[in-house]
Amino acid sequence: MPTTKIIQFSCERPNSNSIKDAVAVLHSGGLVAFPTETVYGLGADALNAVAVQKVFEAKGRPSDNPLIVHVASLEIAWHFTTEISEKGLQLTKRFWPGPLTLVVKRKVIVPDIVTAGLDTIAIRIPNHPVTLELLKRFEGGIVGPSANISGRPSPTSAKHVYHDLNGKIDIILDAGPTIIGVESTVIDVTVDPPVILRIGGLSREDIEKEIGETRRIISQEILRRSPGTRHRHYAPKARVFLVPKNDRETFIKQLSKMKDDGKKVGAITYSENMNVIDATKFHLILSPSVESYAQNIFRALRELDSLDVDCMLVESVEEKGIGAAIMDRLVRAAQNI
Ligand code: AMP
Ligand code: MG
Repeated sequence: MPTTKIIQFSCERPNSNSIKDAVAVLHSGGLVAFPTETVYGLGADALNAVAVQKVFEAKGRPSDNPLIVHVASLEIAWHFTTEISEKGLQLTKRFWPGPLTLVVKRKVIVPDIVTAGLDTIAIRIPNHPVTLELLKRFEGGIVGPSANISGRPSPTSAKHVYHDLNGKIDIILDAGPTIIGVESTVIDVTVDPPVILRIGGLSREDIEKEIGETRRIISQEILRRSPGTRHRHYAPKARVFLVPKNDRETFIKQLSKMKDDGKKVGAITYSENMNVIDATKFHLILSPSVESYAQNIFRALRELDSLDVDCMLVESVEEKGIGAAIMDRLVRAAQNI
């Protein structure tokens, strides 16, 4: 494959000729990385099994990890599903386009490779002007796992996509850094109460305000229902260690111990209390809002990795709102799961 082409956009005015080129690539079975409000996705025609196979190959994604299909409207979503429950429809009305993926019953026309053979399919309408334009012009569904090498921190800028996938995909649509920075929340609405399979850009609190009680499952059941969750995720090359929020003492103690052990240590913190002067040369201090932490955390993990640190100390956040999604990613990165 030739070198990957990067097309730059200003968000407000998607350039129509460039979108046309990307649509043509998708129609011919090629791969297009696209921006969303969560992270960058790696797109292929969801009804073209050969093209979808290329997505798995480019990412090195295990074939038992099903993909999310992105669409421009509820009308197109119905091309892929036979049934959306009342609560599911309520969620689409309230949160689409947005960082919420619904798992619903699939139609038989969907290639098995998309759903990893499950009888359900994951669908969402992303909230990004460039990608909504792409989806509208394409007039179909586009699969869109994160546009990174599987297992690595998700890409929140075109640069991250290029770093991981240059030469393996045709086009990257570059619309700058993503706004939310963590993936969508995935909820199974084929059951009642609906089950949150992955917490992400939309909080459980916001979902429950709309449809009442949900379940959050972990352990064996989630592995069976959402196979993707059992694979290693979000991990940089260096080992990740979480430190409690705002706990300067623990932070300094752990840092000194690691340095004494001869390790090259990086740190990512955001609380003022943790801005320890000269703690380490590789200290990324992020801005204190939890939204901003979500936006920047994958970039920060990638940046420290590029500095070849041996380990990273990363400050925890409270597990509420988007903080729950951040901690889900960080715990997995730290435990290598
Ligand atoms: P990613 O594309 O890497 O953001 O991950 C998509 C997530 O959605 C993974 O956790 C998948 O396991 C989950 N997913 C996709 N399709 C389904 C499905 N049909 N049933 C349950 N989970 C799904
Ligand atoms: Mg991913």
